[in-house]
Amino acid sequence: MAKGKSFADKIAKAREQRGDTCQACGETIKPIMVVSPTESERTGALRFRRNFLKYCSCNEKEIFE
Ligand SMILES: [Zn+2]
Repeated sequence: MAKGKSFADKIAKAREQRGDTCQACGETIKPIMVVSPTESERTGALRFRRNFLKYCSCNEKEIFE
């Protein structure tokens, strides 16, 4: 019977769903959506580009500056 996964497996899976852990600061790396305005080359109209960034303590200052 394939009954029950090991505790380590559960932790690993939970981490996978939440995101990776940063090797440098040990924090969970969180995904964040950043909307940046970009000008369309053809029409010159302002568009908004959505980017998903991953951040932790290491780079949050750069993102939220
Ligand atoms: Zn980090």
